[in-house]
Amino acid sequence: PTFPEQRSVILTGAASPRGIGRFTAHYLAEHGWNVGILDLDAEASKSVAAEVAEQHGVIAAGAGANVADEGQVRDAFDELEAALPQLVAVVNLAGVSSPVDYLEVTPQEWHRVIDVNLHGVHHTTKRAVESMVRSGVGRVVSLSSVSAQRGGGTFSKTVYSTAKAGVIGFTRSLARELGHQGITVNAVSPGPIDTDIMGGTLTDERKEKMAADGVLPRIGTPRDIAAAIAYLISEDAGFVTGQTLNVDGGLYMH
Ligand code: NAD
Repeated sequence: PTFPEQRSVILTGAASPRGIGRFTAHYLAEHGWNVGILDLDAEASKSVAAEVAEQHGVIAAGAGANVADEGQVRDAFDELEAALPQLVAVVNLAGVSSPVDYLEVTPQEWHRVIDVNLHGVHHTTKRAVESMVRSGVGRVVSLSSVSAQRGGGTFSKTVYSTAKAGVIGFTRSLARELGHQGITVNAVSPGPIDTDIMGGTLTDERKEKMAADGVLPRIGTPRDIAAAIAYLISEDAGFVTGQTLNVDGGLYMH
């Protein structure tokens, strides 16, 4: 089946002011998508949805949920789907960083990062594809990280790389399972992007050092990632599945 005239995308982790998710919500609305925002804080999610609706004239809705909690995710999806036209795409952006060295990592820290960055992707994707199989068309995109492919070397350490590597395996296997249902499943793997996820540690000096490592001598912007997401959830990307698209200035080639 082709895309319906009115289609919606739900983005998790799209309420932080300078994050990739909020920028992507606006970018996708510009490209005709109605938008659902799911983030920790319900009010923050609703306020991003309201600004997207107002600026782009699309339908938008926001709901609060911790992606690590499957029940909360399912309730939030019920709320968002009731307010939006047909759900065609889900984009898993909710994530946390973890600068803790492996030898210092506590059980709490290990589970916190896996719960949000990996189990969170499973919870939202599971709920989203339950809707998509009913209409026979769907797009899933999840954020991995170049740290999963290059063996860390970024702000976040091993537990983060472990979760983000899990996202790649999840993506490939689910792509195979869902291909016959008209659903594509892909990942985007960013290099360092100028947002607040590194807790204000991304100084100009650090940015320069990180940029010097890549083929393209700069760090990335939310727009770089939004454009990749827009492509992967587009109708025209229907023959692309199981892929990890690196948007990293050439840090990792595969
Ligand atoms: P950000 O911190 O600006 O945004 C992350 C968002 O996720 C926030 O809005 C936060 O509230 C939300 N979130 C965190 N925990 C949550 C939970 N338990 N439930 C629901 N929402 C939750 O970060 P960002 O840089 O925009 O990152 C977006 C995604 O891109 C993340 O998955 C991140 O790991 C990935 N990524 C970022 C970079 C980078 O350099 N910025 C690089 C590689 C991958």
